[in-house]
Amino acid sequence: MTTPMDFLHGPLVSEAIDLGAVLLLALGLKGLAKVSSARSANALAAAAMLLAVVGLLLQQQPEPAAWAWIAAGTGLGTVAGMVTARRVPMTAMPEVVALFNGCGGMASLLVAMGVALFDADAAGLVDRISIAVSVFVGAITFSGSLVAMAKLQGWLDTPAWTQSQLRHGVNLVLALLCLGGALLLPADPGGLPLWLLGIAATLLGIGVTLPIGGADMPVVISLLNSYSGVAAAAAGFVVGSRLLIVAGAMVGAAGLILTQVMCTAMNRSLVSVLFGGALGAGAHVGGGGDEAGYSRITSCSPEECAMALEQAERVVFVPGYGLAVAQAQHALRELSKLLEAHGVEVSYAIHPVAGRMPGHMNVLLAEADVPYEQLLEMDTINPEFPRTDVVIVLGANDVVNPQAKSDPSSPLFGMPVLEVDQARQVFVVKRSLGAGYAGIANALFELPQTAMVFGDAKAVINGLISELRALGVGRAKMAA
Ligand code: NDP
Repeated sequence: MTTPMDFLHGPLVSEAIDLGAVLLLALGLKGLAKVSSARSANALAAAAMLLAVVGLLLQQQPEPAAWAWIAAGTGLGTVAGMVTARRVPMTAMPEVVALFNGCGGMASLLVAMGVALFDADAAGLVDRISIAVSVFVGAITFSGSLVAMAKLQGWLDTPAWTQSQLRHGVNLVLALLCLGGALLLPADPGGLPLWLLGIAATLLGIGVTLPIGGADMPVVISLLNSYSGVAAAAAGFVVGSRLLIVAGAMVGAAGLILTQVMCTAMNRSLVSVLFGGALGAGAHVGGGGDEAGYSRITSCSPEECAMALEQAERVVFVPGYGLAVAQAQHALRELSKLLEAHGVEVSYAIHPVAGRMPGHMNVLLAEADVPYEQLLEMDTINPEFPRTDVVIVLGANDVVNPQAKSDPSSPLFGMPVLEVDQARQVFVVKRSLGAGYAGIANALFELPQTAMVFGDAKAVINGLISELRALGVGRAKMAA
């Protein structure tokens, strides 16, 4: 007779849980497409993962001794996740995303290696091929993501030798070793081919990611994100988890689409990113750098900038990495509200690679409740600049550099940029004349319609708010 416990551990409940988890995950991913639903979508995806873990435990019925390990792993992961989510500043999110991608790759690598080393006898041919794929992609994702994180953090520069043809030779040898290991692995899953494949793929991840730098980093991050999904899907085949296969495939596909979007944004092909020279490889993180070489710089005070804003009918803000560093998004929203109350038409120009991770500016401004419809993508806003009275560039640099359009010798040449130089008046808010991520000078700073407002973005925005209030802009709102 079937007891309730048998039913609970039976295939029907397991299938229902799997289906529920997959549906929740799909809904979660769909919700992430919109800023307004992203928060609840994240909760849905987390619930899907919880459900999947519960389903797995019900199905596998671990030995009593294994529970201590499961509890320790769950506790450690939960604490690490919570501490990371609470303590990591917004500006360090790209590094965290890279690290999490790496963790995903490492998990797939370890799962596949675990099966290969301890349970290979039960593995059929498809499982063995999946082990090879999972080890290969997982190892590349793991080491590549760690290199990307170190580069974003400024711990690692692009070594000069990686810009020579030598790297292609080194990577080719590593790729051939991987191929050899992968072909031999199905016949001997727990033996030498596994280690050959694991070590060669780890080194290949470093060899492929190390030469990529500067402005090409957004593409690498999205590609590694996609790899982590592929590795998870392969691990799903290894352990027979439908959820892992579906989730991994969705992440892999989403990452590939994002990679395509980033390539289009940079006007670079994936092949040229992976095998060409690094775009702006001499990049240094966070600006600073070469202040020499400018001869026609005009600077002004927040007071003069506020006077121009008060007169303007149409204002466009261009947020960049410096806005995130200054955590000035809330102050910016307050400034916008003040201007809107004064009858000024306000919008925000969003460049796809502004900041340090795909979607960085959308996330930053959503945090300050900036209405989504005010965020205009590059193709929409560029034709609008000629009829814009005032553009305020806030901690952005590379994404507004007109040399990307006109100077073939510029490392940014070919990358579509926000054409703020077409506006009537431009104010650039930053702390110095230092360079942006690509490490090069910006011709925008010397144009006759440009004035620099030197200072931390938050301090300058707060200064603008005070000056506007002093000009009676806030009072106009109250009167209205
Ligand atoms: P940039 O890195 O080009 O410029 C940022 C500017 O912000 C610097 O010039 C710096 O100047 C200024 N800044 C820094 N701190 C402050 C502060 N507290 N207040 C005011 N200004 C500040 O940023 P962009 O957003 O224009 O361009 C992004 C770059 O990053 C592109 O080259 C892109 O390819 C690259 N990248 C993008 C990724 C993505 O996925 N989005 C990932 C990795 C790289 P100063 O020091 O003088 O203040």
